[in-house]
Amino acid sequence: MEIRTNEPMARHTSFRVGGPADRFVIPESETELREAVLDCKKSGQPWYMIGNGSNLLVGDKGFRGTIISTERLAELEVQKNENIIIAGAGVMLSKLANTAAREELTGLEFAAGIPGTVGGAVMMNAGAYGSEMKNVLLWADVMDQDGNVKLMKNEELELGYRTSCLERLGLFTVRAAFKLTPGDPEVIRSQMEELARKRKEKQPLEYPSAGSTFKRPEGHFAGKLIEDAGLKGFSVGGAAVSEKHAGFVINKDHGTAADILGLCNEVKRRVKESSGVDLELEVKLLGEF
Ligand SMILES: Cc1cc2nc3c(=O)[nH]c(=O)nc-3n(C[C@H](O)[C@H](O)[C@H](O)COP(=O)(O)OP(=O)(O)OC[C@H]3O[C@@H](n4cnc5c(N)ncnc54)[C@H](O)[C@@H]3O)c2cc1C
Repeated sequence: MEIRTNEPMARHTSFRVGGPADRFVIPESETELREAVLDCKKSGQPWYMIGNGSNLLVGDKGFRGTIISTERLAELEVQKNENIIIAGAGVMLSKLANTAAREELTGLEFAAGIPGTVGGAVMMNAGAYGSEMKNVLLWADVMDQDGNVKLMKNEELELGYRTSCLERLGLFTVRAAFKLTPGDPEVIRSQMEELARKRKEKQPLEYPSAGSTFKRPEGHFAGKLIEDAGLKGFSVGGAAVSEKHAGFVINKDHGTAADILGLCNEVKRRVKESSGVDLELEVKLLGEF
């Protein structure tokens, strides 16, 4: 399996920041994934699994230890009679949603524009436009830190608002199955196009970001709180609160991870001051800043 050293994490995160990972490992099968996990465990060094890095802020000094990337765990199987698609952890949601559309199956239209992998989406219970993974996920094959794989059903994964039990239990998705419904291909396509249009109109897709930077606080919208605090366009170094959508922190002009984190902390402080609400990062922090 491919092993790189001193791999710049800026290449693997949608913020386009992050210093080098000591080791960067790319398993191509479940067997290689197990090998990688057991190797990491044996080494006693820190390690972390990533998908497409679209919900990650990696520090400028990088990561001391091993990053396991799922990018080549890309199996895709359609069980047409059952209306089920089984996808490897590294399959991009856009590819999954387009496969479903091609197979005339509805349910994954919401996911087409989320730039993450199946593994990241299960872990985060990714969602958009009124749906989420929880509504279509049938089961996931998950690996523990000893390399054992077991099937967990939807109900066992404790899928909540941008959470699952996987992080707490130290489990990793190897593949997941999605239960869909037969649909009209034209309706599926036009729904996907409509959502893509909405994203383009509302979100600053022209800049590197990690999507919504903060979780939605109960009873509020993070973007509205940030806007009300007068922070639209507010910047620290090359990082800025998007003018287009205040819920997005963007890497506007060659920002560093320190700029982005500094900006997030200042936004939290000022929103707390102006509204009394505590914002919580949806983006995961990794490595040394
Ligand atoms: C422009 C933009 C728009 C976005 N829009 C949305 C949206 O509408 N809705 C939404 O929910 N999110 C959105 N996001 C955020 C992000 O795409 C999702 O959270 C996505 O699910 C992350 O997937 P990933 O593969 O990139 O995960 P990564 O960022 O690589 O990792 C995220 C977390 O998942 C864990 N993880 C990754 N793979 C696995 C695995 N196989 N097993 C266990 N854990 C794993 C990582 O360890 C990490 O903790 C957006 C991001 C961007 C940049």
